[in-house]
Amino acid sequence: MQQSMMQRPLLISALIEFAEANHGDTEIVSRRVEGDIHRYTYRDANRRAKQLANALKHLGVKVGDRVGTLAWNGYRHFEIYYGVSGMGAITHTINPRLFPEQIAYIINHAEDGYLFFDLTFLPLVEALAPKLPTIKAFIAMTDRGHMPDAKLSNLLCYEDLISAEAADFEWPPLDENTPSGLCYTSGTTGNPKGVLYTHRSTIYHTYAAMSPEAFCLSSRDVVLPVVPMFHVNAWGTPYICAAAGAKLVFPGPALDGASLYALFEGEGVTMSAGVPTVWMGLLSYVKSSNLKFSTFKETVIGGSACPPAMIKSFEHEFGVNVVHAWGMTEMSPLGTMCRLKLKHQTMSAEQQDAVKARQGRAIFGVEMKIVDDEGRTLPNDGKAAGDLMVRGPWVVDRYFKDEKSALVDGWFATGDVANIDADGYMQITDRSKDVIKSGGEWISSIDLENIAVSHPSVFEAAVIGVPHPKWDERPLVLAVLKPNTTLTRDELIKFYDGKIAKWMVPDDVVFLDKLPHTATGKLLKTQLREDYKNFKLPA
Ligand code: AMP
Repeated sequence: MQQSMMQRPLLISALIEFAEANHGDTEIVSRRVEGDIHRYTYRDANRRAKQLANALKHLGVKVGDRVGTLAWNGYRHFEIYYGVSGMGAITHTINPRLFPEQIAYIINHAEDGYLFFDLTFLPLVEALAPKLPTIKAFIAMTDRGHMPDAKLSNLLCYEDLISAEAADFEWPPLDENTPSGLCYTSGTTGNPKGVLYTHRSTIYHTYAAMSPEAFCLSSRDVVLPVVPMFHVNAWGTPYICAAAGAKLVFPGPALDGASLYALFEGEGVTMSAGVPTVWMGLLSYVKSSNLKFSTFKETVIGGSACPPAMIKSFEHEFGVNVVHAWGMTEMSPLGTMCRLKLKHQTMSAEQQDAVKARQGRAIFGVEMKIVDDEGRTLPNDGKAAGDLMVRGPWVVDRYFKDEKSALVDGWFATGDVANIDADGYMQITDRSKDVIKSGGEWISSIDLENIAVSHPSVFEAAVIGVPHPKWDERPLVLAVLKPNTTLTRDELIKFYDGKIAKWMVPDDVVFLDKLPHTATGKLLKTQLREDYKNFKLPA
């Protein structure tokens, strides 16, 4: 039958055009790395994104080229999101918290042609520069007056670069399957893997994420994404807010309780999103200073399991509704969000809290199932736990530059273990992937084990995550020594110095006579995690 509806491609540039046309005077407020507060509007952002697109064109950037960023949440980063992707190139956001060797690997693997960076990261960029052969120029995201005296030969100034350009750029009518963004995840073993988003996947994700069952965002909202723009696109908020016409408030590098609170109150923030560790800092600040929120009404918490006590504290002490969410880099990232249904409204607060502690229901577009070791689907009865599998238009199909599919029978194995109840509410019960998540960031247990066993006295080592009140999880080394050798806890901890980022260094070491293994000789991490689940780490 003949096609009867328009074939308009789903493009990221449409978001910023829509925001300008319908919410042109809505503000985007940023705490700058330079220290002050900057404010402008969606209209200004679109104009400057177009100037940036013109500048990139003149630098020779073409459709499909990768452009890296090492930057906080701020308006210039927002302009790069739209300027780079809008012209058809790929916005590659890089996590500055990774070990420099990993950052160099990621930039080289992505073959980034240009690297935009906030001034905070100048020392990092200077140290990395000699190892980055594909970078044609580094662009400091600042103005002429703040340009640093840098040890970089090919350094450009962001404001100079764009001010030389006209704002009359026509966003190209790209194919909607054109790649738009790239984000690496340092999941399980080996090197980080890239997830390459497309315009189409991003727009579908945006539609679903703004709906009342998900972020529930509108032009009456003021949104402060605490989740970094270098971590799965700040969970899509730079796109979702443009589609909703919501005011955006970017916190820059100041993520401490006092700085966040000042922005929440000063800008009338209604909605926010971030990992539990950040909220711990904000909650402890408002509690110890005896403060209340005057406009903040809802926050999305995910990235790690949100402790039930945090949900209670936000809701019962501060009247802020918590929406527990689960997702991953491979899912753009939203998979589930935990909102109550009509039938829950009449339940007691305690019963509601129990529902809200779960990771939530799939948002429309995401399909989920749990399977046993043989791949058989398990029932959604809230009891059976199995490997969580997902599929949908914003779920990864294969990793960047990987020949082989990342799927099993058309489904992506998340590496999380979960149950799903009859109402569709999913709860993570364990993790089959062998990684540790500390303050919302991954630590590879394999990397930590490899370092431990490279010590001449260590025969075998297993590294597991143990619960931590602030960071959610911290690494613990369980080590077996070689015969007739001695090694202390402090010596082994010291051995990690310079081999891995400081925040990844294990918190403690336990020496054992032997470690448990599976029948195939693999370390039996499930048993170790169970045995040490109540382990008290040193303060
Ligand atoms: P990332 O790709 O860094 O966003 O990490 C995704 C992973 O973080 C998931 O596969 C889970 O293991 C974990 N995760 C994300 N959200 C939650 C949550 N609400 N509860 C428990 N684990 C979570």
